[in-house]
Amino acid sequence: MTKFEKPDAPQVLSDNQAIWTKALLDAVALYGSYKKIPEAEKKSLLSHYKHKDIQELLFACNHHKCAFCECKPGETSNIEVEHFEPKSIYPDLAFEWDNLLPSCRKCNEAKSDHDTRTSPIINPAKEDPEMLLTYDSLRIVPLQGSGQEKKADNTITVCNLNCNRLYNARAELLISVTEYMDELKNKFEWIEEADTQQKRRVRITKLSNSIEIIDSMLRTDQPFSAYCKWLVTTFPEYQEAKKIIASR
Ligand SMILES: [Zn+2]
Repeated sequence: MTKFEKPDAPQVLSDNQAIWTKALLDAVALYGSYKKIPEAEKKSLLSHYKHKDIQELLFACNHHKCAFCECKPGETSNIEVEHFEPKSIYPDLAFEWDNLLPSCRKCNEAKSDHDTRTSPIINPAKEDPEMLLTYDSLRIVPLQGSGQEKKADNTITVCNLNCNRLYNARAELLISVTEYMDELKNKFEWIEEADTQQKRRVRITKLSNSIEIIDSMLRTDQPFSAYCKWLVTTFPEYQEAKKIIASR
């Protein structure tokens, strides 16, 4: 999970938020509760938050990644508009830009109608998850000493951030990064063996190219970038390579 910034609400939402909210709240009043609104009517009343302009702006602000698990669903799979404070409990927030996050279907389903007001979880559009969460091998865990361990733990449970799907994704990254680090190690020896300054410089440039590939995995537009950022800190080769490159 990484922090991301949301731009201002799209025009269509600013223009229609009050009208759409009133229609939904009128239906809640008419039927006695949100849950009692007939499904077809509810679907129609809620359809507005799926407006193309809202989706496009929301999905782009986190590089089309899920706000919670950081997966990047492909164009054909599902990324959805998620209500941080659930619309079933807080229908007045159904069209509140501040309450909308991009989420994959798995996280959206896991979170379901969990009440984030009474049982808070991390909102990555408002706080930096990397100050509250870290990793232990394939597992995401609360960062001890953050003072918000309970919230971090709650986030992991509510969004089901330690599941097979995410273990598999992290395991694949662990394998890739381990292979890259082995390559770095080989390059260290190769640089040591250089018998001229010229050769040494050329070999350090090759090392620098390898580091660029690894660094590209840490960019926030990449899936699971928070995990990759943590992962490289567990390999001394990464810092060693940076040192060698800086000494050029
Ligand atoms: Zn997700």
